[in-house]
Order: sequence, then C-alpha cells, then structure tokens
Amino acid sequence: MVSESAVRQWPEWLSGHAQLRHVVTRAARPGVVRDWPDWVRSEVRTALAARGVHRLWSHQVEAAEAAHGGRHVVLATGTASGKSLGYLLPILAATSGSEPSVHDRRLPSVRNLLSPGARPHTALYLAPTKALAHDQLRQAKALGLDGWRVGALDGDSNGGERDFARDWAGFILSNPDMLHHSVLPQHARWASFLSTLRYVVIDESHRYRGVFGAHVAQVLRRLRRICASYGADPAFVFASATSSDPAAAAARLIGVSTDEVLPVLTDGAPHGEVSYALWDGRADSVDATTALMGDLVEAGRQTVAFISSRKMCEVTAMRVRERTGVAEVAAYRGGYLAAERRQVEAELSSGQLRGVAATNALELGVDIAGLDAVVINGVPGTMASFWQQAGRAGRRGKDAAVVLVAGANPRDAYVLDHPELIFERPVEQTVLHPDNPYVLGPHLAAAAQEIPLVVDDQQWFGPSMTAVADRLARQGALRKRTNGWYWTRPGRAVDLVNLRTQGNKGVQIVEDGTGRVIGHVDTAAADSAVHPGAVYLHRGETHLVDELDHDGGVALVHVANPGYVTQPRSVTSVEIRAERASRRLGAGMVHLGDVEVTSQVTGFLRRDERTGAVWDTNPLDLPVRRLRTRAVWWTLPSEVISAAGFSPQLLGAAAHAAEHTAIGLLGLFAPCDRWDIGGLSTALHPQTDTVTVFVHDGHPGGAGFADRGYEAAPQWWAATLERLLTCPCEGGCPACVMSPKCGNGNQMLDKDAAIVLLRTLLPD
Ligand SMILES: [Zn+2]
Ligand SMILES: [Zn+2]
Repeated sequence: MVSESAVRQWPEWLSGHAQLRHVVTRAARPGVVRDWPDWVRSEVRTALAARGVHRLWSHQVEAAEAAHGGRHVVLATGTASGKSLGYLLPILAATSGSEPSVHDRRLPSVRNLLSPGARPHTALYLAPTKALAHDQLRQAKALGLDGWRVGALDGDSNGGERDFARDWAGFILSNPDMLHHSVLPQHARWASFLSTLRYVVIDESHRYRGVFGAHVAQVLRRLRRICASYGADPAFVFASATSSDPAAAAARLIGVSTDEVLPVLTDGAPHGEVSYALWDGRADSVDATTALMGDLVEAGRQTVAFISSRKMCEVTAMRVRERTGVAEVAAYRGGYLAAERRQVEAELSSGQLRGVAATNALELGVDIAGLDAVVINGVPGTMASFWQQAGRAGRRGKDAAVVLVAGANPRDAYVLDHPELIFERPVEQTVLHPDNPYVLGPHLAAAAQEIPLVVDDQQWFGPSMTAVADRLARQGALRKRTNGWYWTRPGRAVDLVNLRTQGNKGVQIVEDGTGRVIGHVDTAAADSAVHPGAVYLHRGETHLVDELDHDGGVALVHVANPGYVTQPRSVTSVEIRAERASRRLGAGMVHLGDVEVTSQVTGFLRRDERTGAVWDTNPLDLPVRRLRTRAVWWTLPSEVISAAGFSPQLLGAAAHAAEHTAIGLLGLFAPCDRWDIGGLSTALHPQTDTVTVFVHDGHPGGAGFADRGYEAAPQWWAATLERLLTCPCEGGCPACVMSPKCGNGNQMLDKDAAIVLLRTLLPD
C-alpha cells in the first residue's frame, strides 16, 4: 500500500520531509448499492428521496434487514457512511404509518390496547450526549412523515414533552442517564412504551468503555430485564466506530454472547481518495501540528487539528492565527458553553472557519464531515477514536489528507515503528468491566427497587450478582427474604448513582469576581489539575488557581499571564488486599488482584512556558486520597535479582523506568491513556518481599484496564522491552522512560538497567 506514487500524489508541502515516516493511500471507491427491502413503505422512500436519499448502500441494507428480522446487530463503518439509515429503516417500518392489524403485533398486550397512546411498536434511541440526540431528532422530524410521532427525552424536556414521549411517541430519542434516572424507576408509567419496545439503538457505542461503559452496561441490563417483565425482547442496533471486535464489545454491553450480535463491517458508501501520513513529531508534536495546520490553512484547505489536551488546543489555535495571519481559526473543546460550541460547529459547516483546533469533544459533532484535511496530534487513546477523527476528512470526488503526528511518548514512538498496528491489525479491544462491584452494587439496588431481585436475575446481571446482592443486604442497603432481595429504604436507589462521575459532581472552575463558570474537572483529578497555584487555560486565557474547595466542588481562579506552567508532584503507596490470579512470566510472576492505592499531591513544579525548564518546587498541603481498585503487578524472585547483581538503588531505578514505559504502552492493548491508570514500582515491597511493579486502574473497583494488562502481559512487556531497546536516546527520554505524570518529577530512572531487568523477566 505504501508506494512512491502515493508520496508523489501527496501535496507538495509534505513530501520530502524527513519526518514523514509512512504513507497509506486509500483509493477512491464507488458505492455498493443494494435494493430497498420490500418492507420499506413507499411514503418512507418518498420522504427519504426528498432529503436526498435515493439509494441504499450495502451496509445499510444488511444492518436494516438483520434488525428487522429481530437480530442484534452492530454497524461499524466509516464516520460519514450513513449508519443511521441502518436503524431508521426498520424503526420507520415499525413505528410510522398506518396501524398494523392486531395479528401483526409482536407482543399484543391488553395493557397496551387500553393505554391512551396505543402503539403497535416503539423504538428507543440512546446517544452518549444530549446534543447528538437532538441532532437525530431534527433529522427525524425533517423527514416530515405524517403520523410519525417522535419525541426527545432528556434533562431539558418539559413536562408536556415528557408526557408526549411517554404516552404517544413511537420513537424516543434519549440518553442512558434519562433511562437510568427517569424511565426505569417509573417503569409502570412507561408500561405501554416498554411493553411494545421493538428496537433499541445504541449510537456511538464505542464510547461506552471504562467505568462509564460499565454503568451503561448495567442500565441496559436493567432495561432488558424490565422489558422482559412486560413481555418485550427488543433487538439492539449498535452504531460504532471502526474497532477490532465491535460485536464482542456490543455483546458485552447488553450481556449476551458475541455470536448473538451480527457484525456489519464492510462499508458500502462511496468515498474519495484519502492519504494517511504518519509524521514523526517527537521533537515537539504540538509545534509540528501547528506548522502542518498552518500550511494547510494557508493553502486554502479547511482543516481540523485534534489535540487531546485542552490547554494545547487553545495554544494551537492561537499560534496558527499568529503564524498565518488567518483570523478564521478557532478552538473547540469540552468545558465550553453549549452556545459557544454550536457557533464553532455552524461556522465550520458553513465554511466560514478555515481551521479549528479541537479536543475529542468534536468527535461527536455530527455535522462535521467532508473536511479537506485532519491533523491528529498524538495517537488517540483508542483506534476507534483515531478512525472517528480521521473520518472527518474526505468527501466524494475530492482528495483529502489525514496526518497523524506521533509525539514523544512510548506508545506513539512504538506506533511509528509499527504502523501496521493502525492500518493493518488493530490489537486493542474495548475494555469494559461491568462486574466492577462498585458499579454493579448500586445498579442491583436500583434493579431491586424496580422489581425485587430473584436468583434468576443472574441471567441479566451475571454470576457475581448473588454475592454482591448478599453484601448489600449485610450492609443494610437491601433486605433479603426467602424469595429474593428487596429495596425497603426511603428514597430512590437510582439517586445513589451518577453514570458519569462515580457519584460526585466534580469540581467547577469559577472565575473569581465575575462568578463565571469556565470549566470543570473530575474530583479525582482536581488535586492535580486545579490545586492552589496551578495554571489553568481556557479559550486562550491563562488562569491561576487561588483556592480549591473540594467540599463545595469549586476551584476559584483569576486571569493571569505568569509565563510558566505547573506540574504536580505526589507520593503513592499500594497495598495488596486480595490476589485474584497469577501466572508465570519468564523468570518471574504476573499477578492480578484488588489493591488500595494511597496517594497525596504534595507540591508542584513551576516550568517555563516555552522551554519547559524547571523554575522551582512548591509544597502543598492537600489531603491523602485512598482508592480501592484493581491492579496487575509482576515480581521477580530475590535469587534472580541477586544473580543479576543489582544494587537496591539501581533495582529501584530499573523498575521505575520499566513501569513508566509499560504504562505508556498499555494503551496499545487496552484502550486507555496513561491518565486512566497509575503505577508504582519498588525495589522491595513489604508484602511481596521483592522487586514489584504495579500498574493499577485509576477508578474505584477498576475499569478493566489492569485485567486486560494481565491477559496481555507477555505481549505488553515484550513491547515495553522493544521500546527500551529501540529508543535511540542516551539514558532516557519522554518516548521511553520519562512520564509527564511522574510524581517524582522523573527522578531515579535507569533505562539500561530497565533493559537488563526486563530481559530477566521475559522468557527468551
Ligand atoms: Zn528514549
Ligand atoms: Zn515515576
């Protein structure tokens, strides 16, 4: 696929650069058209034709037919491939138009016939964000089909809208949070909707991973259980970005086996030629991204640059404006007000903006496609995310370019050496840990309040249900009777769970004096991100944090221009609470289990804004935080260590270096970034009595990353050794052993000793 001609076809400004490491060109492709299914009514075809849809692509028909036949199906094709028709066609057939005869009803029920909004079938669409659901609502309404009753249900809906949706709508667009807080706890009021529920659409399903994914998985299990109690068994249609095994991920979300979900992976939509370039930006990836974006914008190519850090996203937009003199370049990121974001989206769609530097907040922007170029700074946390961002480029009949700028971290450096990981054989899998007891427990309480739990409910909640329910009973949250578990407390069990932030609201960042809310951070990240004295950036404005009030959930900031950035320092220890599994790895052992991580942010460094040079160290007085979670760790017997002749100090520096590189690479095997996980290495751990390297999940109960690391340990640690061996630096650099997250400020690291240590650990 990599060819000289591909490089020649590449825009002038890119070819011949030493930093251009790999080019893949995907040829333009005509679409694969399929016949309309015979169950699509003529008025539906007419309405779609009026919206410019005259034909169907193969993947749309495949998914639509499967869902129509009652199968669960996952549609994992390109960003602008028209996935929505795959689920809209069967939904339209079931929920719009004239009433089918009683014999046609899948699950006739007296309750349904008596209810005010007697509906033969209903369908539910769930999006990870309100904005996406609203966009889908607008598109559904634009079809203008007579008698098709469509409604939105979210935190903004008023009472009238909610009543309409509940009692009359055939198709409801909502989100998992509403299902959790409103629909399931009041299921009796929703009986007529739920008892006829035929389809559930899970849009952007690759978004449901980690802890948030585990919560949503439990909400969907509760939904399936309630539907079953009303005699309904809806087919689930998942729309996902391209990933390595979307059917397995979809199956895990709703708790069925993988072969029960049909994967539709072949994109039948037409597209123009797209060139993908891998760019070595290890010297300074933000600078490289800025330069590439600047060149593209100047050449008149509408470009979006994706930059994961909110701070650097602002900086890039500002520098591109300065460098090119083009004013029509904006930043776009989470933490902006909805109105600010809508404005940028609209100006990008209309072509008024020539460039946007965005965080992955734009990944979900539904109308943004057909860009001339996309520049991605750093390998995204997941391959799904990469394809989602890259998919914003290209439209039929027009060439487009995607440049992936690899940064100075172990994972990006590894990808530069192994482009096949992106373009040929993705190794990562969606990581989801629905059995996390911290997640399962509160959802079981909610389920018990919805309908008392019985042993049979393990069919929905899995084999660990009984033990977790018994524990809830011992704690007094549930009451155990001979026939099951009951919720007998006052109040709503669902109020114990927030799907997105593990039971807390996070910390709001408020401008002192004006009271303006300029952003928010998770509680767990607050000590590091908005400690007193931290530098925080918003829309190109630098702020200094004056005060962090954890109980009030507020950080007070003021605008300032100090010329430095801040880096927190912390101390951490890990206590093993229960070992769950272990296996041999070369001369050592890998272990998986439950741990308690104790950590404290103790101070921060001030670093020069431009050069990164350390100015000084400042102490902080912040509380000790405790986290019970999952960890994977390895140990080497002390005989092996003494034979290798390590001094305790060298051993510590070797383990520390190996830990950093491994944390940087885990994302290749489990879609997480180094901020989702943490680590600790020690020459002598009091419990294992030998050298130990821990890598732990960053969330209570674990998000599945450590578990995946345990599974993939041989490949993961082999990749770690390879990165250490191939990094050309002398004595360590950010692409191998140095970590931006190190609580020790990257002190006590020894790359060469880490190589010796890992050669001992790994089998030959
Ligand atoms: Zn290096
Ligand atoms: Zn460290």
